[in-house]
Parts: sequence; C-alpha cells; structure tokens
Amino acid sequence: MFFDNASTTKIDKDIINNLEMINEEYYYNPGALYSKGRRTKSCIENCRKVIKECIGAEGDSTIVFTGSATEANNLAMFGVLKKNTRKILVSMGEHPSVYNTALEIKNRGYNVEFVNLDKTGRVDIVDFKQKLTSDVDIVSIMHVSNETGAINDIAELVKIAKNINPKVIFHTDGVQAIGKIGVSIEELGVDMYTMSAHKIHGCKGVGALYIKRGLKLKPIIFGGGQEFDLRSGTENVLGIYTLSKAVENATQNLNKNYSNIQSLKDEFINGIDGSGLKYYLHSNNDCSPYIVSISFDKCRSETILNMLNDKGIYVGNGSACSSKKSGNRILENMGVNKLEIEGNLRVSFSKYNTSEEVTVLVKELRNCITDYLQRAR
Ligand code: PLP
Repeated sequence: MFFDNASTTKIDKDIINNLEMINEEYYYNPGALYSKGRRTKSCIENCRKVIKECIGAEGDSTIVFTGSATEANNLAMFGVLKKNTRKILVSMGEHPSVYNTALEIKNRGYNVEFVNLDKTGRVDIVDFKQKLTSDVDIVSIMHVSNETGAINDIAELVKIAKNINPKVIFHTDGVQAIGKIGVSIEELGVDMYTMSAHKIHGCKGVGALYIKRGLKLKPIIFGGGQEFDLRSGTENVLGIYTLSKAVENATQNLNKNYSNIQSLKDEFINGIDGSGLKYYLHSNNDCSPYIVSISFDKCRSETILNMLNDKGIYVGNGSACSSKKSGNRILENMGVNKLEIEGNLRVSFSKYNTSEEVTVLVKELRNCITDYLQRAR
C-alpha cells in the first residue's frame, strides 16, 4: 500500500499503453530535417500545446522541457540571474531544488534572503512584506508545500511583489500543485512555473518550466540549442509525452480526484482521531488534501516507518530527497518542536488509494505505535 505519493507516483495505465505507439511513430531525432524527424518535432510541439492549454498559459509563452523539476528550478533561478541582480527572496519552505540553488547563489556572493513560514506552513506575509524591498529582483515561492500541503496564495504574493518592484521576476515551483489543485497561470501572474511528470503519474526524469512571454533566460546547459536554446540535448520524446498526457489526465479529472482525495484525508484524520493515539497535525484544513504531515507523541518516525514497511505499507518522513538528513528545515521554521519533528510522518495520497487502504493504514499505524510505546516503556 503506497502512501508516499508526494515522492513519486505510478505511471497511468493509458499512458503506458500508448508508449509503444509513441516509440514506433516518434523515435526519430526531432532535430532531423526529413519528414519523420519533423513529425517527431511536431509531436513535442503538440505536447507543449496540451500543457499550455491545461494550465491556461498564453499562446506566445514558452514551455521548456527539462530532465526534472530540479533542473527546471535551477534553470529558472540561474537563468534570470544577472551580474547586477540586487536581491533575491526565497521562502524557507522550498524544496531542496530551490532552497539549495538559492544557497549556491548566495555562496556566489549574491544577496539572498529567506522568508519565514507561519504556523500553517504558508509564507509569513508580514516577513515577506518586510524583506520585500524595492531592490528585490527575483522571488521564488512554491505553490503547494511538499512537506505539509500548505497552499501559498501565489496570486496575492505576486501582486504584492509587483507593486513594490514592477520588474521583479516571480518564479513558482508548482510540482505539488499542478494536476492536484486548479492552476491558472494567467490568474497567478507568475513569470515562471515549474512542473514534474512523475508526481502526477507520468514518468521520472521529465520536468518543464513555463516562461512568460518576453522573459529572457540564459541556458544552464549548452550544446545543440534544443528547446529554444535553453536546454540542449536530444529531447526525451517519450518522457515529454508522459508529462503532457499526465497533465491532461489530471486536469480533466481534477475535481473528481480532489474530492476523492479529500475524503481519504478526512477518513485518515478521523480514524487517527478515534484511535486514541496522541498526535499533532501540521497540515490544516486549507492544505492540499494530497499531503498530510502528522507527528505522533514520543515516537521516532523512522522506526514507525520501518514497522509499517514490514507490513507492506509505505509512508514518508518528509521530502524523499532529504529524508535521510536529520531535522526538518520546514517544520522547524514553522515552529514545530524537536520531539514532534522526530515523530513526523508524511502520508500522501494518489487517485489509486482507496478507502479500504486508509482503514488498514489507520489500524496498522495504531498497532505499530501502541507496540512501539509499550516497548519503549
Ligand atoms: N519541487 C517539489 C515541490 C517537489 O516535491 C519535488 C520532488 O520531490 C521537486 C521539486 C523535484 O522534482 P524532480 O524529482 O522532478 O526533480
């Protein structure tokens, strides 16, 4: 039973079923001049168009396909960095692919400031406004937290930022938002927006960066000039197809999936509530229902995770990329105490989870924790 869907997801069956056809029809090099090459290129262009339509992006904006969302985040931040960039604001809640990129930029001598989170896991608006001086040239704030599911009001943050500096470049990591909560790029008003295929039932190793019309970036990978000179390397046609089809599938079923997942989250929390276990919830009602961050009293999450693993139940303890590191930058910044962080689990759902699975999860969690606490006495 897989409850770590914020780390990755299973590829949709209909996508897998189409891959053989895509491979037969479009295995040619999209850069080749003969007709099969041009057809392959037009397959990629069609994928770009599908994604743009799904996210409500204007026709003359750009989608650049990359080798991951991590790469898209790097491209976004380094791509707009200039010698004379004055100040960069990044939230403390960012995934390591943004946070560590910001640290690297800081190491290179730039003025980078980190905006704190409030208790709900969202960007603290007071701190944001305080640090948002008129010399801020770049802002990067994620849409949905991969730790807690907290949803930032990106449209409002963009408005505030552009009011202070109309030329500010606003980037948003939308990896945990796209295909899960409604995303309308035009309404958000962002300049760049990152997505990843494998979080929404596409394949691993494919991401994309939306770039607003007129915004100029410099590449971080050099070579043959594919993807508008922004991401050289022969395009991953199969991967790109899975991203566009995954975005399309998720967008078409957004409301249905959302309400099913909300029911699973409610069932999970009600179940835990009725279990008699002492717990602390770090994902409130306004969060994306896809992710639940929860801590159990006097427990070490790693042990509980392993006990569940032995029963064939897989949950996370924070972002998979940093789960082996101790502590949790995001929960710490939210003001969660050390003991709660030690006992923190991340349960994340997908459309393939069922109510029956949640019942088993609650029952086994209760068994594991009761066992653990008895042994610890
Ligand atoms: N951004 C967020 C919010 C994520 O949750 C993740 C994956 O955990 C990433 C970026 C990185 O995605 P990828 O695995 O495609 O590099």
